Amino acid sequence: MTNVDPSCTFCKIIQGLIPAHRVYEDSQTFAFLDINPLFPGHVLVAPKQHFVTLYDLPGEQLGPLFTTTQLLARAVETAVEAEGTFVAINNRVSQTVPHLHVHVIPRRRGDGLKGFFWPRHDYKDDQSREAIRAAIEHEARRLLG
Ligand code: AMP
Ligand code: ZN
Repeated sequence: MTNVDPSCTFCKIIQGLIPAHRVYEDSQTFAFLDINPLFPGHVLVAPKQHFVTLYDLPGEQLGPLFTTTQLLARAVETAVEAEGTFVAINNRVSQTVPHLHVHVIPRRRGDGLKGFFWPRHDYKDDQSREAIRAAIEHEARRLLG
């Protein structure tokens, strides 16, 4: 496997050098139970190759990663009889393991996660919302070239 960081915990898991509770594996992706779950059934889905953030993942690996994520979201929801899932990626901020991974977390109404995750911060006014909207639109166009 190319693109491995020998000091990376998730690379070691994927290579079988340290143990993990694997739930799924294919040629490009690997999924396993989070060691410190928000709820039982919390799964991490990672590309087998070492990339730090979502931004670093080559375009052709986006599909495989998201296909596995969709599969595992369905599987987790059914397996632990949840009502839904929360699917999330930390990029840099709050990212404790620098190997891209998607959290798949089973959710139930009233499970207490909502308030914890989502303190809302409204725009100062209509002008500041429009400035930020326009800046994001501009940046997305710039990135596309
Ligand atoms: P993040 O904070 O988004 O980078 O998420 C990293 C996640 O990896 C955390 O939820 C940890 O509980 C989990 N984690 C760290 N080390 C291991 C490990 N050896 N096996 C399974 N999960 C791990
Ligand atoms: Zn890695």
